Formats: sequence, structure tokens, C-alpha cells
Amino acid sequence: TEACLSAIETSDALNAFVHKTPEIALERARAADARIKAGDAPAMCGLPIGIKDLFCTQGVPSQAGSRILEGFLPQYESTVSQQLADAGAVMLGKLNMDEFAMGSSNETSVYGAAVSPWRRSESETALTPGGSSGGSAAAVAADLCLAATGTDTGGSIRQPAAFTGTVGIKPTYGRCSRWGVVAFASSLDQAGPMTKSVRDAAIMLGAMAGHDPKDSTSMDIPVPDFEAMLTGDIKGKKIGIPKEYRIEGTPDEIETLWADGAAMLKAAGAEIVDISLPHTKYALPAYYVIAPAEASSNLARYDGVRYGHRATLEAGDGITEMYEKTRAEGFGHEVQRRVMIGTYVLSAGFYDAYYNRARKVRTLIKKDFEDAFAQGVDAILTPATPSSAFGLGEMGQTDPVQMYLNDVFTVTVNLAGLPGIAVPAGLDHQGLPLGLQLIGRPWEEGDLLNTAYALE
Ligand code: GLN
Repeated sequence: TEACLSAIETSDALNAFVHKTPEIALERARAADARIKAGDAPAMCGLPIGIKDLFCTQGVPSQAGSRILEGFLPQYESTVSQQLADAGAVMLGKLNMDEFAMGSSNETSVYGAAVSPWRRSESETALTPGGSSGGSAAAVAADLCLAATGTDTGGSIRQPAAFTGTVGIKPTYGRCSRWGVVAFASSLDQAGPMTKSVRDAAIMLGAMAGHDPKDSTSMDIPVPDFEAMLTGDIKGKKIGIPKEYRIEGTPDEIETLWADGAAMLKAAGAEIVDISLPHTKYALPAYYVIAPAEASSNLARYDGVRYGHRATLEAGDGITEMYEKTRAEGFGHEVQRRVMIGTYVLSAGFYDAYYNRARKVRTLIKKDFEDAFAQGVDAILTPATPSSAFGLGEMGQTDPVQMYLNDVFTVTVNLAGLPGIAVPAGLDHQGLPLGLQLIGRPWEEGDLLNTAYALE
């Protein structure tokens, strides 16, 4: 814990930790020491971790990367961060992220972007660690903590993991409690671990997962010992390669890496089969209707009364001006854009044309995966991202859709509620990490982790 705290002190340039909690960390580390001495050490006893700013942490600033939550000190702890603390993990502080988890580069954060510890071999351009869990990825990759929590609505665990050479798993929807996790798109949001290895991910997911009566969408099914399932034996497993993920413009080196990954699994005894997920091309548009729709509803609660920031009002201003000024000041541009899109697609007259249609597409995407699993496929292998990390300020400045395209391989998994994991797969020609994604059957994170273990 002390080593991590001093590494954090000398790594301000990465802008990964936006709120440090050294007193809490040292107190928990001492408690962990005592538990170890008493021979009562739980799974993560004494392990220093970072917590994404999206998780409410009791008495500790929790701003979801937004100005509108300035000064908000939660009265309660999120279930996931509480379970991690119960498992002995030591919280070092809160990690940077895109505002309300909306983004793929951490650039929408009120704190400014987190910076990747990676650099292109030929230049010094500061690179994005990805987003929205950019602070988590940067912190783990730079050894500021042993692991971190992330959340993933459309790829926010897997894309930053791929960009930083770390491991990130988005569990099955309902595996981890969303209680106390600031809501973005409630039917898509899931918490998950970001770690240095598949084994660490297995251990940490075990501590984070489980039924929570406070979240009606968390499932009451047993959490297996994920770590014990890491045998590396994948003989006879059927791995699907979906042809729709071969999209135009994907760099050759990503194609090569994907083929190499398949070859590695084959060499370990798996059977590689070509599959089709025919509705893949509709996933991104459907996601960018459904996620903003849910966000516009979830963010209605930030009204200047109940939480955080309130605009300074002028004489004569009424409650409407208070809402308007507070929300105009408190939300950044990307969040405002999503609230507008969401409100639009949910409005009378447009609801059927956009929101309802997107929901139908979502059902078809889910069915594509069900059909593949019904054919005996155990896991699906795809690239995690269409490129390696891009430079800060290089993407989406004039056209937000350019940024959205980054999520093309990850959003399908959230729409279908499935578990997906990103594992480091090698470096590109610039010396930057690239990741592969494995998608598993619902509730079979153990199997998925084991397949990823064979790929690691
Ligand atoms: N980049 C996607 C978005 O902006 C996903 C974000 C996430 O998973 N939280 O919506």
C-alpha cells in the first residue's frame, strides 16, 4: 500500500487518481495486516486497488467525472466496493473516467483526460488510456495499484484494457450489483475488474459478484470459485469466429493478431469454427439510441436540489431557471448531447421509429448469440477494438460518431447481456498494446476466464 501511495504521488501526469484516500488506505492496510497475522485473510486481503469514480464511496467524493456532482459525499457505499472492502481490498482512491461513463477516451471528464503510460515508439504524443474507465486502465498499467474497478455499458472496461495491455472482464448482466453505482444506462451497465492478469481478474470478480437484494436486476445464483476454474484446459471447446466482425478498414495487423489468437486456442485443443452473427451491423446504431434514452431518464435526477452543484441564481429566477442553469453548467457537451438524443428518441411521435425499433434490434442481436451457442459454440473470439490507442485530441473532435465507432466490437455484448473479456494479445507496429475479446455464454464467466487464460 505504501509503495502504491508513493507511486501515485509521483504520477500526477497520468491524471489517473482524481481523489486520493491515503488515510483510508493505511488504516485498511493495517487492518489487513492484523487479519493476516490472525490467520483470517480473505481473498483480497491487503491488496491495494483503485475505485472508479462512478462507484459511491461513503464519505469520499464520488463525482462520476462530472461537475454536477461537485461536493457530493455519498452517505452509503456501493455494494461492489463494500464487498471488495469486506474481502480485504485496500482502497487507494477514486479513478478518473469520462463524465457519467460517456466516452471512449476519458476526454469528457471534468478532471481532464487520464493519460496512458504507453507511448508510440516514434513519438511523444500523449495517448488515451481509453474510456470510460480510463483512470482505472492507466493506474493498473502504470502499477499505481494492483487492480481497479471498472464499469462497462458499451465497452468501457474492455476497450481501455485493450488500449493499455491489461485484462478487463464485463460479467453477465446481473452478476454484480449496480447498487450505489451511478447509473448511465441501467439495462446495459455492469461493474467488473481491471487487472494485470486473468488470474487476478478471476479472484477480483469473485469478490465483486453476487446477489444483492438492493438491486432487483442482480441474479440470485451462486458465484463459483473462478480462480479454481483456471486449469488452462480448453480441449474440445468450440470457439466461434464471427464473419461480421471482419469489418472494412480494420488494420491488417489486427486481422493477423486475431488469426494468431485463434491458432493459439486451436493449439491448446480447441476447435475453431466460422459463425455468423447477422445483425451485428445494427448494434452500434441501436446502442446509441438505447444508451442515451436510458441516460436521459437516469440523469433527470440531477436537478440542482438533491445532489452536488447548483448554479448561482439571479433575482427573479424561478425553479425552471434553476434547473436550466444548473444543468447547463453542470453537464459537459457529450452528456448534454446524449440527454438531447435520449429525450428525442423517447418523445411521442419518435418513440416507435427509434427507441422501439432499437429494442427490436437488440432482441435480434441477443438471438444471434443464442443461435451460435445453440450450435455448441462455447466462446466467440473477436478483436477488442478496431485500432490501438489513439492520441489525446486526435479523435471525435469535429464528429462524435468517429468516437462512437470505436465501440463497434464491444456494444453487442452489452446489448445481449453476455460476459466479455479483453486480454492483451501483442503489440502493433507502433509498439502499442492490442487486445482480443472473448465472449461467453451467460453466467459462464468461469469458462470464459479459463479460455482467456489459455490465450494469455
Ligand atoms: N464508449 C461507449 C459510450 O460512450 C461506452 C461507454 C461505457 O461503456 N460506459 O457510451
